[in-house]
Amino acid sequence: MLVNNQEKIKTIFESIGGKISDGFTFIDSRVYYTKKGTPYLKSPGVIMIAKPEIKIENTKNFLSEYQNNFEDYLSDPDKLTAGTQLIKFSAQLCYMSFGPKRTWNKDANRYFENIKSSGHGSVLEHSYYSFLIYGVSRSLTHELIRHRAGFAYSQQSQRYVSGNLIRFVERKEFQDNKYLHNLFEKRIDRIKEEYEEINNILKKEQEKLKILGQSSDDESHLKTELRKKLNQTARAIFTNETEAPIVVTANIRAWRHTIEMRANNYAETEIRELFFRIFLCLALVEPILFNDYKIIEYKDGIYGVETKYKKV
Ligand SMILES: Cc1cc2nc3c(=O)[nH]c(=O)nc-3n(C[C@H](O)[C@H](O)[C@H](O)COP(=O)(O)OP(=O)(O)OC[C@H]3O[C@@H](n4cnc5c(N)ncnc54)[C@H](O)[C@@H]3O)c2cc1C
Repeated sequence: MLVNNQEKIKTIFESIGGKISDGFTFIDSRVYYTKKGTPYLKSPGVIMIAKPEIKIENTKNFLSEYQNNFEDYLSDPDKLTAGTQLIKFSAQLCYMSFGPKRTWNKDANRYFENIKSSGHGSVLEHSYYSFLIYGVSRSLTHELIRHRAGFAYSQQSQRYVSGNLIRFVERKEFQDNKYLHNLFEKRIDRIKEEYEEINNILKKEQEKLKILGQSSDDESHLKTELRKKLNQTARAIFTNETEAPIVVTANIRAWRHTIEMRANNYAETEIRELFFRIFLCLALVEPILFNDYKIIEYKDGIYGVETKYKKV
């Protein structure tokens, strides 16, 4: 079995600025500015904003009304996290495994090892975790949203949100090379200026020609529609390195699958860095669900993970 190194996970997490607040993990990303004031980020920000709650005590009547009186299940002295307990309870329901010979919480590690090794991962779909992800590029999110099963996404709109709020993401390769870094800063300044110029020209044309989009009696609706028409045209010049903040919710089975696909050597480096951070945040909150993962430091200096229990 691969060795889980909870200490190592914590050390790496803290070394990149990771924090835990009331049991929620997060890794912030600093914002930088060019001399002209264009904002950009250098690494993914990952903030866990939601995770499961559980109230198994409310199953008391259900459990006690069985012949064998399963109520004793609720007095397990060892407590699990809500996400892990939810999955364990759901899995134990399958076999009504609530009696004295059940697996007690102290042996939850072994219990989950069995689930993972036998590939009975559907029970992992009960626990969902949501992250606000920022400091990632539009090219990254284009790859991210290819993952469908078990995922929900809400991404910043480049039509509704004004170009004044747009930020950029600098790739590691540019950060490490002075010339490429200068080119990057010049490019994002130029894009921002050009965006504003296009927006201004289109705005004047709109006013001159009175192109009022779809007619509407509602003034504010009309204004929004006009603004969207400007933004949707002007955004054509944004490069792949434009930041694309996104809220992502997924269940443990789905998170595991994507971490395996994206936090590995074959994945693009920006997305690998993101998924390694997601792994750190999840593994610290739900150690039992991720203790089969082994941390690997790849030749490019970016971490990833591997497990023998793939796609449970
Ligand atoms: C290194 C790398 C390189 C890639 N290169 C390319 C590329 O060049 N071009 C490109 O287009 N894509 C590329 N992809 C994207 C890849 O092909 C997948 O679309 C993406 O990784 C989503 O993974 P998934 O198919 O496992 O889907 P997920 O949505 O993550 O689904 C998880 C699992 O659920 C099952 N499932 C989901 N949806 C269905 C369905 N509709 N029907 C049946 N089973 C389903 C499958 O078993 C699937 O593996 C790349 C991905 C990686 C990791």
